Amino acid sequence: MPTSVSQREVLEFGFALPKTTPAQRKRAGRLLALLAESYPDAHCALIYSAAHELLIATILSAQATDASVNKATPGLFARFPTPESFAAATPAQIEPYIRSIGLFRSKARAIHESMRQVVEQFDGQVPRTMHELLTLRGVARKTAGVVLGNAFGINMNVVVDTHVHRLSQRLGLVPKGANVQQAERALMALFPRESWCALSHMLIFHGRAACKARQPSCGGHAVCEEFGSACELRISAPRRTAKAKRTQ
Ligand code: SF4
Repeated sequence: MPTSVSQREVLEFGFALPKTTPAQRKRAGRLLALLAESYPDAHCALIYSAAHELLIATILSAQATDASVNKATPGLFARFPTPESFAAATPAQIEPYIRSIGLFRSKARAIHESMRQVVEQFDGQVPRTMHELLTLRGVARKTAGVVLGNAFGINMNVVVDTHVHRLSQRLGLVPKGANVQQAERALMALFPRESWCALSHMLIFHGRAACKARQPSCGGHAVCEEFGSACELRISAPRRTAKAKRTQ
């Protein structure tokens, strides 16, 4: 029987979470409250009506915008309404429906193969564990976490996409230069487990609303006012503006 917290974490997640201080967790809690106040409607932007559809939409969203995925999936899901219908199709039959999305050939293969696995190995049901999801073709921790958190309400990780990765560094939640895996584990350690899925959506909403990769709008937002002191871009923004005015 595992006795320590670390042993239990290794058993459940496959790794021990990094240590955090009460002050770090308190700061994270305040940020979480402020994000929830600012983005009460934060949600998964991918449109789906069943777990296998979310799995497929998430596979399609790699290096593509959610909007481009949402444009393609209604036709795709109408033509192939079940995991069985995707499994019975060939990748070439799936391709025309997702041609507008980058890497469509390899994504068509991943969709076909993952749905074949769902049908043959999981009785047509998308599995509900991280371990099983990771056995599916084209599914890594990010996709598995999206499906578990949104389709099943199971918080097994914090999904770290490009927005979450950027913001977690800018807001001083993880060290500068932390990779995706380090950021995922640091966020899991800092924030209460029941918030993990929502946290990811709220950070993505803040990333889209204010903290864009290029030219973030650092002025005036409540989250930035209180937590932007860790953001080097915010500190330099007024100087950039002043210089820009002088050169006009
Ligand atoms: S202050 Fe600027 S860099 Fe920091 S979170 Fe806000 S928008 Fe992003």
